[in-house]
Amino acid sequence: AATLANRATSALRAYDPGHDLPALRLRFGNVLSELGSNENPLGPSPQATRAATRVLEDIWRYPDPLGASLKQRLSGELGLPVASITLGNGSHELLMLLAQCFADAEHPVVHSQYGFAVFPIAAAAAGARAIAVRALPANHATAPYGHDLDAIATAVTPATRIVYLANPNNPTGTWFTDAELERFLARVPAETLVVVDEAYHEYVDAPGLSTALHLLGRFPNLIVTRTFSKAYALAGLRIGYMLSHPSVAAVAERLRESFNVNGVALAAAEAALGDHEHRARVRETNHRDRAWFAEELTARGLRVLPSQTNFLLVDLGQDAAAFEKHLFERGVIVRPMGGYGLPHTVRISVGSRAELQRLLENLP
Ligand code: PMP
Repeated sequence: AATLANRATSALRAYDPGHDLPALRLRFGNVLSELGSNENPLGPSPQATRAATRVLEDIWRYPDPLGASLKQRLSGELGLPVASITLGNGSHELLMLLAQCFADAEHPVVHSQYGFAVFPIAAAAAGARAIAVRALPANHATAPYGHDLDAIATAVTPATRIVYLANPNNPTGTWFTDAELERFLARVPAETLVVVDEAYHEYVDAPGLSTALHLLGRFPNLIVTRTFSKAYALAGLRIGYMLSHPSVAAVAERLRESFNVNGVALAAAEAALGDHEHRARVRETNHRDRAWFAEELTARGLRVLPSQTNFLLVDLGQDAAAFEKHLFERGVIVRPMGGYGLPHTVRISVGSRAELQRLLENLP
């Protein structure tokens, strides 16, 4: 029981804000700057909110256990068969489910040292070992603290059941190109599943970086996960999706809970997908504000790491606790990354201009 309890409690680590947010909202009111959770300051598409509100009238009904309508929509958007799509209660659930389906005590998972926190948690919950591969060095030109795909490929053995990659990665913000991923996939045994977590996909605009989706046909061991929590701003509804070979999807279908995705989330996600205008506005706003904010921080002498996401990782070169506390006392919440083994860094969401301005005005 103690072992099980350990496994269960660790899952909160990735999300625990470390503060009493409701109390802070009361204390600081609308000057509170919540820059700790990579949320989207523009909020969801109004069409998504309307669709969600309509379903609220029907919450006494079970949702469609197949999510057929949303899957049809995703299939059309992505040009992939419905049989390749699995829906999840957030992409977090899908990352956990994959380990439950495929990893065990004899079949470890491999991830990068500063990869997304859920990867080793998923392995632990499945009773599998998680092997953390040393990240790229702090002074790396394009991906400081990022995934070292060569080292990861070297660490993979035929017993490795899952490799978890995040592209771009949280908390580092770093990425690898489509060509680098293709070379990696060519080196990894066909029995090893390679999960590419594209939670921040909608924000990317770097040269050579688009998505892993076009490689699905050539590499049946490739799995891509995505979420409606970030660019679509539906984090509170909990919905994500996974694209894989149909045989992988079939296994996940057998293990998932029948009604893992609720009806409000299904309707909102489908409407959100259809609002291309809102998605473009979110992307452009983030692109503009991320560049502006990075410049402002750099001008104040801070080291900002390259990012393809809706947050920036700032390397303070010294323990971040005092920096975080100073901002916190002024109603500006940022996330120190000590839990990830990066105690000298803080992660800051690209919030609204007003929030970012308040942070700049309150810097120590
Ligand atoms: N992957 C990455 C890299 C993330 O940063 C997050 C959210 N923090 C997730 C997955 C999970 O998102 P969700 O469960 O809300 O879909």
